[in-house]
Amino acid sequence: MALIVQKYGGSSVADAQKVMNVAKRIVREKDKGNDVVTVVSAQGDTTDHLIEMAKEINSHPSKREMDMLLSTGEQISISLLAMAVERLGYPVISLTGPQVGIKTSSVHSNARIISIDITRIKKELQKGKIIIVAGFQGVDENNDITTLGRGGSDTTAVALAAALKADFCEIYTDVDGVYTADPRLVPQASKLKYISYDEMLEMASLGARILHNRSVELAKKYRVPLVVKSSFGDNDGTYVKEVEKVEDKMVVTGVAHDTNVARIAVLGIKDKPGMAYKLFDLLAKNNIDVDVIIQSIGREEDKDISFTVSSSNLEKALELIKENLDYLEARGVKYRDNVAKVSIVGAGMVNNPGVAALMFEALAEANINIGMITTSEIKVSCLINEEDVEKAVKAIHDKFQLHKIHQ
Ligand code: ADP
Ligand code: ASP
Ligand code: MG
Repeated sequence: MALIVQKYGGSSVADAQKVMNVAKRIVREKDKGNDVVTVVSAQGDTTDHLIEMAKEINSHPSKREMDMLLSTGEQISISLLAMAVERLGYPVISLTGPQVGIKTSSVHSNARIISIDITRIKKELQKGKIIIVAGFQGVDENNDITTLGRGGSDTTAVALAAALKADFCEIYTDVDGVYTADPRLVPQASKLKYISYDEMLEMASLGARILHNRSVELAKKYRVPLVVKSSFGDNDGTYVKEVEKVEDKMVVTGVAHDTNVARIAVLGIKDKPGMAYKLFDLLAKNNIDVDVIIQSIGREEDKDISFTVSSSNLEKALELIKENLDYLEARGVKYRDNVAKVSIVGAGMVNNPGVAALMFEALAEANINIGMITTSEIKVSCLINEEDVEKAVKAIHDKFQLHKIHQ
């Protein structure tokens, strides 16, 4: 008998019929003699609707109250799904994040899971019950409800799988696996049979929303066997696992894109030691993640520092910098929100010179200007205009012939 943790995303439980479909899939697993813990997201676009509802009342609500509101989406799903399983005649219980003992940090809207107390789940499993858990939520040390960041239900599932030492963590969604690019943008994209934890982590962090990046981080850390599959069929999915054999490492595994990006330039910063530290320490202390960073050579006495943040953090970052211009000894700040990031990811890249050049060639041929570039051993990212994203992803996918990938 195995213990399986499954996760169904919002589109998989969008209406009553889909909820019944998921219930049937859960009991099918139970019929095989397995214990099942199912994590579920809010139905369809519920989370977006809740955000709009909040904005009608207050354009700057506190993050605590937003978490209180957004966590209700998942609560609707767990109760409805539990009712669907009841209807099929199986013992079941729905539990919220706090009921499951998911303790998190206090960073509302982007909390990290600190610990999970599995006592309750274990007790219910011993009674033979199917467990349905609300994704995306937890509780902090003050007993306040927190959420884990958009797409965070994946992380709930992997964290539970790690804590329960589950035999498998299955992520069910509206596509049947991880592709070489978002199949909605590139219909010719190839489905991958497997992808390494490191590559998947890069893809997720660089905008491929198929998995929440923290879920991959946890899967890698705790060696959780992870598979991404469709909730609408029975096709083989994509396994996310350790890929150690050099010959199995692809030069480029996929293209990711992210439009939730904004560029900030802090102008005329004094050219002396400690200035970059001051700037990025200020942003870090305010929980603003920074990505691509470029420092210009600058003029005699000063220089400019440009960097990217997520669009959702733009307003906060700008406010913070403007308030601290004197402290930062800077002259001013500029920004652009209509930018995007395209990236290639591949574990074999490190041994293959010329990969970055090929990406730049693809962009040049498509007449796309590059604003910033950043590289690591397994990725190259370029900042471009947002309107060029689709063209860029297709051109790069084509250049590396990713439609021909066969694993
Ligand atoms: P869920 O609600 O199930 O969590 P998401 O919308 O968060 O689903 O994630 C699934 C979506 O991720 C797909 O519909 C697809 O458009 C998108 N996606 C982005 N990049 C990729 C990729 N490389 N492979 C597969 N899907 C991708
Ligand atoms: N419902 C949340 C969101 O829309 C969490 C998730 O879907 O994983 O971001
Ligand atoms: Mg998701």
